[in-house]
Amino acid sequence: ESIEQVIDRLCVKIPDHPDPGILFRDLTPLFADSQGFTRTVDSLAEAFEGQFDCVAGVEARGFILAGAVARSAGCGVLPVRKEGKLPRETYRQSYQLEYGSATLEIHTDDLARGSRVLVVDDLLATGGTLEATGQLLHRAGLHIAGFGLIMELTDLRGRAKLGGHRVRALYRV
Ligand code: IMP
Repeated sequence: ESIEQVIDRLCVKIPDHPDPGILFRDLTPLFADSQGFTRTVDSLAEAFEGQFDCVAGVEARGFILAGAVARSAGCGVLPVRKEGKLPRETYRQSYQLEYGSATLEIHTDDLARGSRVLVVDDLLATGGTLEATGQLLHRAGLHIAGFGLIMELTDLRGRAKLGGHRVRALYRV
């Protein structure tokens, strides 16, 4: 079974969630499956092998992936948090949601400038979340090694927002 087949089998599609007309892809069954989770995490680490010193994950599902990918590669984790959670000096970046906006933050000094950071998340939709994450890393003087996703919704063209950085999605739909 290929990694695409594993992801397809363990992704549950939920019509009209959270709003009418949206087909939500729930990857929690993939996270809960020992073989599925291990293969997903190792595939993301392998796709960028030797190219990163740290893994960034966006709160909250990105944290689950980032910690595991970092452990697979033997490196550390940079948490990208929702606003108001980090206790020291931060960079803050706001971005547009379908309704309203959201703000993400990182500590200014968790990593040495010039560190190579792999950003991981479960799903790339419009790209707003990862675009904001890339802007935060840039402001902190960090090198973006690339973006690793489990799933990419290609119709939404989120990839175009990621500034020509390397994007690897294990499953594209
Ligand atoms: P974007 O900013 O529009 O690319 O949205 C991506 C963010 O929203 C990611 O952090 C995803 O976890 C979440 N997201 C959007 N759509 C879905 C979905 O269908 N399934 C799971 N997560 C989603």
